[in-house]
Amino acid sequence: MPSELHKLTQSKYCKLLFDGCLPCHSRRVNESDRDALLRRHLAMLLIGVQNGEDADVLRLARAETHRLVGAVAACLRGHALSPSGSCTTCGSPECLLRKEISLALLPVTLDGG
Ligand SMILES: [Zn+2]
Repeated sequence: MPSELHKLTQSKYCKLLFDGCLPCHSRRVNESDRDALLRRHLAMLLIGVQNGEDADVLRLARAETHRLVGAVAACLRGHALSPSGSCTTCGSPECLLRKEISLALLPVTLDGG
């Protein structure tokens, strides 16, 4: 019996992802559906990169990296810092979104650890 991972990577959606043709751009979706599509897209992307053949991973990386960078940049833009260093959206000196992005992406901690 195929594992859930195997079924996901063999799905039509995953093939569309590898082919760079996501269905979410072609029709109107509500916010819940959009959120589910986004989460599924990210899961498929991760599964594809971790388990795909090298040629497919290269193609996937070239097709998706600029989109991921754009998404992170959009998040950071949406939570811009004021001149005093507080988040203009959260109003906090420690924006949770910025902190989560930093923890996920920065290779080392800023305090030298
Ligand atoms: Zn914020």
